[in-house]
Amino acid sequence: MLRRLGRRGHPEPQDQSTRPTVPPPRTGPPLPEWPDVSHTERMASVEFRVDDEPHIVVDTDVCRNCVTRECMRACPADLFVPTADGGVAFYHDQCFECGVCAVVCPCPGAISWSYPQGGYGVVLRWG
Ligand code: SF4
Ligand code: SF4
Repeated sequence: MLRRLGRRGHPEPQDQSTRPTVPPPRTGPPLPEWPDVSHTERMASVEFRVDDEPHIVVDTDVCRNCVTRECMRACPADLFVPTADGGVAFYHDQCFECGVCAVVCPCPGAISWSYPQGGYGVVLRWG
């Protein structure tokens, strides 16, 4: 946001009535303490039940015309992989179901995304 400069180039003081207010400190019972677990340990505790039927379908014909290939940079599980012939391969197992690929993909029709059917996908966290 640009602020108007007053005399000598200093910002003019903000109108106090429009400043955001800081919420009061939280009250109530203490929050539970989270165990000190590394990211690697957390990810190792996730079980993926891979369905034969992929919950994400990628139309690789559409991908061939894609210049930016945002999915390859955005997917946290690196499930979009360039192929030697200039195409894109997609592996649905180990998908976190975050949906980022569908959000960043600029080409309509390239990604058909749905949740895995019940009992499949990311289904269980141990401990
Ligand atoms: S999925 Fe979308 S972003 Fe990824 S290569 Fe295909 S068209 Fe491009
Ligand atoms: S939903 Fe997330 S983890 Fe799964 S393929 Fe898309 S970006 Fe990767």
